[in-house]
Amino acid sequence: RIAFVNGRYVPHAAAQVHVEDRGYQFADGVYEVCEVRDGALIDVTRHLDRLERSLDELRIDHPGERSALTLIMREVVRRNRIRNGMVYLQVTRGVAPRDHGFPADVRPSVVMTARAASRAKADAQAAAGIAVITVPDNRWDRVDIKSTSLLPNVLAKQAAREAGAYEAWFVDGDGFVTEGSSTNAWIVTREGTLVTRAAEHGILRGITRGVVSDVAATRQIRVVERPFSVEEAKTAREAFITAATTIVMPVVSIDGHAVGDGKPGPVALGLRAAFHDGVERLSA
Ligand code: PLP
Repeated sequence: RIAFVNGRYVPHAAAQVHVEDRGYQFADGVYEVCEVRDGALIDVTRHLDRLERSLDELRIDHPGERSALTLIMREVVRRNRIRNGMVYLQVTRGVAPRDHGFPADVRPSVVMTARAASRAKADAQAAAGIAVITVPDNRWDRVDIKSTSLLPNVLAKQAAREAGAYEAWFVDGDGFVTEGSSTNAWIVTREGTLVTRAAEHGILRGITRGVVSDVAATRQIRVVERPFSVEEAKTAREAFITAATTIVMPVVSIDGHAVGDGKPGPVALGLRAAFHDGVERLSA
């Protein structure tokens, strides 16, 4: 396996950053995960738009032209011979003697890795449906920035694993679901309307979330952006999660309570199938 580290392609096992990289010391960095399908980067423009927004919000310099970043992403995919999987791209503020304030004259660090993933395994998981648990949302109020500062997400995902679930949904102080630890959260109402939380500062504006909205629009499915409670989700007709690597994954239980008839619903499965057509137009 090959990784890209600050201008060089290096063997994955030997890929290293400095101990005083601010990503390492302060989680002072941002990242993107882009799906690779049939060798193509999916929705790469939207991912790079979001990367630049995250960088700007944290006042980290852009590491280079978008065209150069795209080229490197493609090269990492090519060198690792990935047909289906993902590319991970991370940019940190750079290397400097430890001090909380921004260092002067620092260059951002750029790291990229790629990994294969089995589509058959994900499809089997989708056919069975997944379980989610709920946990209090104890994150900061700028989770719209895709920062590598992910401790609450790490703890939430681990809690899910220990409960035998696939994902943990964060719940705000009013009992409303914000999003999953690494996914956006959706329900389908009795009327067949898709509901997901509005992308303000309380959730990450998922790329897949945006594409699913677009796909829904082409199929005349209504999408409403509003908060939904855990109670509403438990009694919804369907529920599902979205992320670049997960695509659309039906949720069949929430805190042990079956959603609908406890099987993946037709809307979620239909969107998952339709997504493949939807993304082809956007891939590069
Ligand atoms: N929400 C969080 C907290 C995430 O970490 C992610 C992706 O990793 C998502 C939502 C889904 O975003 P995307 O569809 O861009 O992968």
